[in-house]
Amino acid sequence: MSNLMNDKVVVIMGVANDRSIAWGVAKALHKQGAKLIFTYRKERSLDKLNKLLEQHQIEALQKVSCDVLDDASIIAAFDEIQKTTGMIHGLVHSVAFAEKDELQGEYVDTTRDGYLLAQNSSSYSLVATAREAKKLMTEGGSIVTQTYIGAERVVKNYNVMGVAKAALEASVMYLAEDLGKYGIRVNAISAGPIRTLAAKGVSGFNDIMSTIEERAPLRRNIDQDEVGDATMFLLSSLSRGITGEVLHVDAGYHILG
Ligand code: NDP
Repeated sequence: MSNLMNDKVVVIMGVANDRSIAWGVAKALHKQGAKLIFTYRKERSLDKLNKLLEQHQIEALQKVSCDVLDDASIIAAFDEIQKTTGMIHGLVHSVAFAEKDELQGEYVDTTRDGYLLAQNSSSYSLVATAREAKKLMTEGGSIVTQTYIGAERVVKNYNVMGVAKAALEASVMYLAEDLGKYGIRVNAISAGPIRTLAAKGVSGFNDIMSTIEERAPLRRNIDQDEVGDATMFLLSSLSRGITGEVLHVDAGYHILG
């Protein structure tokens, strides 16, 4: 199968380097003929993105700065996309943030600022970007975010981010209901642990990965390309009947008690 995404325009948020889940998604979408627009926050991320695009000979339609903590920045980013490209068909939300201090010890010690920052960056950001993306999805579309099993059950040290992911998954349901009438689907991938920049912040991450290797039905960890392919599926017409769903790409770990 190829060209499942032929001429579809997809906005990808969250490439920080070659390990980013969003980069796995970019590769999968490119393979299927999608046209890609990237948003970035840090200049360092833009530099990495430029190098990756060159290495892989991928030509981006646009690269736009966007800080999801700032409404004006989100609005400006989607305005710029509208002016240069016009209509879009997909949005990949692959951004999250929490202070390192909040990703260790006990959840009961979470600070108010730490809680609000995690919710703001990792959960409200989907609501704010979906609202702007909707305006450009004039022929319907698909929005996919990235979540983690720490939303459903207690994962040691994941703490404030688990609660932010629970809010993110609830947002997926409410957004799916709101946007369904415009032919826009909203889904999430719940990926197993992957060594990325963001994952480095979670204390004891190596232990989480070895547990998966020992216990998950497939007895191995998953990678960015597997998440990329599943995200591409949720963006493509193959998944046209699916919305409000959380799809686990975790070697089956979530079925264990
Ligand atoms: P990365 O560190 O590669 O990506 C995180 C991205 O979030 C970066 O590109 C970063 O941009 C961006 N970001 C953070 N804050 C902001 C902001 N205020 N505005 C704009 N962008 C921002 O890590 P991952 O690929 O692991 O993370 C992607 C998603 O996948 C996250 O939602 C994460 O929770 C989720 N996930 C990760 C798993 C894992 O094990 N790695 C497992 C399951 C889900 P910049 O660096 O430019 O600030």
